Amino acid sequence: MQDTMMKVPLSLNHLLERAGKLFHGGQIVSRLPDKSYKRHAYGEFYRRARALGAALQGLGLQKGDRVATLCWNHHAHLECYFGIPAAGGVMHTLNLRLAPEEIGWIAADAQDRFLVIDDVLLPLYEKFKHLHAFERVIVFPFSGASVPAGFTGYEALLAGADPDGFAYAPHEEDDPVAMCYTSGTTGQPKGVVYSHRSTVLHSLAACMPDYNSARNTDVVLPVTPMFHANSWGMPYIAVMVGAKLVFPGPHLHPDDLLDLMTQEPPTLSLGVPTIWMTMIQTYEASLKPGSPNQGRWKLPAGMRSTVGGAAVPESLIRAFDRHGIWIMHGWGMTETSPVGTLSYPIAALQNASADEKYRRAALAGLPAPLVELRVRGDDGRDQPWDGKSAGELQVRGPFITGGYHGIGSPPDKFTADGWLRTGDVVTVDELGFTRISDRTKDLIKSGGEWISSVELENTLMAHPAVAEAAVIAIPDEKWSERPLACVAFKPGEQATPGELNEFLLAKGFVKWQLPERYEFIDAVPRTSTGKFWKLKLREQFPQ
Ligand code: AMP
Repeated sequence: MQDTMMKVPLSLNHLLERAGKLFHGGQIVSRLPDKSYKRHAYGEFYRRARALGAALQGLGLQKGDRVATLCWNHHAHLECYFGIPAAGGVMHTLNLRLAPEEIGWIAADAQDRFLVIDDVLLPLYEKFKHLHAFERVIVFPFSGASVPAGFTGYEALLAGADPDGFAYAPHEEDDPVAMCYTSGTTGQPKGVVYSHRSTVLHSLAACMPDYNSARNTDVVLPVTPMFHANSWGMPYIAVMVGAKLVFPGPHLHPDDLLDLMTQEPPTLSLGVPTIWMTMIQTYEASLKPGSPNQGRWKLPAGMRSTVGGAAVPESLIRAFDRHGIWIMHGWGMTETSPVGTLSYPIAALQNASADEKYRRAALAGLPAPLVELRVRGDDGRDQPWDGKSAGELQVRGPFITGGYHGIGSPPDKFTADGWLRTGDVVTVDELGFTRISDRTKDLIKSGGEWISSVELENTLMAHPAVAEAAVIAIPDEKWSERPLACVAFKPGEQATPGELNEFLLAKGFVKWQLPERYEFIDAVPRTSTGKFWKLKLREQFPQ
């Protein structure tokens, strides 16, 4: 006898059906390789996603088979997000910015059966195809050119399938829908597998008003690649609420993003801080008298922007706020679906000063609903939430992975009592705001005292001449380690190490925390997901 609620399994297919029934007029805009725009209605998306499901079943896709994607952000990639799981498959997003050898290794490790690839990325495929034999390579004619011989055409495949006769593959709510590999900056990349249940719960939690606050009337611009932790879940969320989607395609240069924002003004956007930094610098430079770009762009005032994946400097939040755009700083990992924490205004801070509000906004914020969080000290004990006691951030919840594909749950990644060890060093304050001070491996231990590279970087980036700053540890005979600051200046700007140190002292740093040395560089190298790549700097400046 059932005397409580119905046991209906959580399912991604429900989101697709909901979108098809309720939002068929909603828009999906994609930027094509030639920079023109392609427009679809949600109704078309619904039919095409189901047609993809039918076509994959026609190709013999079995439940649990992996279908890889190697695609930019666009409407066909969105169809894969829903069409592959609808057919019972697991969508595995490959990161197109990785080295070809790494992409091939990952595809082989995941045992991907089929590949859906943008035609413009076929030259990349040629470089890794010897490492893994896909049974079929389905080419999406993103550029509009005809599909080369020897490949299956995506459009032809869809045209030959019947969306009306399509039946969803039966599934349990814990069955897999998607897969994404960790960036592998700390060892071999590892596969994280998301389920129907985790994806639906993450979509619900991450779209709440205090988090992404996604709604039907929104125009959503996901700049975060769809291969980086599922574009932070935003494609699922947007479809769930029926928001208009604007996809940037391959055009992620700040000029292109500003053009796109001017043409299709978003109300909600997301991306990593490095891209947001260059975007605001480009925009502000365009306002200066004599700029060749004067009057070219209009930033969409009122837009909310979720920025995370790496530390967000307070100066960045202030810069966007000057133009009426509020940045919501979030922390997460591929392993956490990825929204873990997000900084938002809370009632207890309503009467706080503007400076305090900015300071809080630059913290990683409060855990999302369903995410449990604890801070484990070196002594194995939970640290108090006092804003001072640091330890490793550990998390647990229904959209946090319990293991890795083919590896399970190794003890360096999971505690014996089932929490994920994030490898991030944090403090949490009385109000529950998390501050990420470092990755365990990025901490600088100088004379027995820890120096936070993140705090040094964020403060250096508040200096008016500084465009980017990354701080790494260098070995030191006397102090064991000392900070080295790698700094890139804004065009036409400069500062001396003495001036930068003066600035740091004025901002509250003490003498022994100041960088031992400065290196002036053109730009901080980026990882495959657009974050500062400290490993490269450590290789470049080993001493
Ligand atoms: P990934 O899985 O590639 O997105 O990387 C996850 C890692 O990025 C985390 O473990 C953190 O080290 C880092 N990260 C993510 N968000 C933030 C943030 N808001 N501040 C500082 N580091 C972050």
